[in-house]
Amino acid sequence: MAALADGRLEVLDLTAPLSPETPVLQLPEPFANTIPLSLEKVSDFDAAGPFWSWNNIHTGEHTGTHLDAPVHWSSGREGASVDRIPPARLLGPAVVADFTAEVDADPDFLLEPEHLDKWVVEHGPLPEGAWLLFRTGWGSRAADAIAFANADADGPHTPGVSAAGAEWLAASPITGFGVETVGIDAGQAGGLEPPFPVHYHLLGADKYGLTQLQGIDRLPVTGAMLVVAPLPIVGGTGSPARVFALVDRS
Ligand code: MN
Repeated sequence: MAALADGRLEVLDLTAPLSPETPVLQLPEPFANTIPLSLEKVSDFDAAGPFWSWNNIHTGEHTGTHLDAPVHWSSGREGASVDRIPPARLLGPAVVADFTAEVDADPDFLLEPEHLDKWVVEHGPLPEGAWLLFRTGWGSRAADAIAFANADADGPHTPGVSAAGAEWLAASPITGFGVETVGIDAGQAGGLEPPFPVHYHLLGADKYGLTQLQGIDRLPVTGAMLVVAPLPIVGGTGSPARVFALVDRS
């Protein structure tokens, strides 16, 4: 409390602003898509409510910075919905794996077990209950929907994790895997085996995904604490989430 009050503990907001312009995953035909956020005015200091302004919100569970719960995926369908995630698991050590240079060279870059093994050699074992944040620099594209999606005739080209890398993560002590992109899998991950391996392996292992993080370049590699706050939507497969990092600046 004292460190918060005197600024030794900095609070960073890693959440993307949530608006109708916030990028949303676009699946190809024949799959259905989720909706972006929209606000529907209920009253605005007018006849419908002379002293108050308020809106209804329309959004998908998986819109903007959001958490993927185990029940989101076929491999985790018997697992926890977002309201049933133990709150203590939503707070944990944040560790950052920086692959900005690799992604600059190749937007389809995939994290492999050897990359993760090398990270552990350099920075030590992943802490129990950690949130591993995959730093790619992709968040810098967030204000430009076309650059953020980076799609061509073959679909989106955005970084992610190989199937072997996803198995590595699922067997690790992490609680969650956070990314700067629109989803926790690579843009081309539909063509991997299994398709969308991070979803398949992580959510099937009772771990969580976290998307569209911004400003994770401000975090130390280790030592920060993450606070992830999704809404407890009963039976929900995910939820928009506010994500804070607590960083020791003393
Ligand atoms: Mn999702």
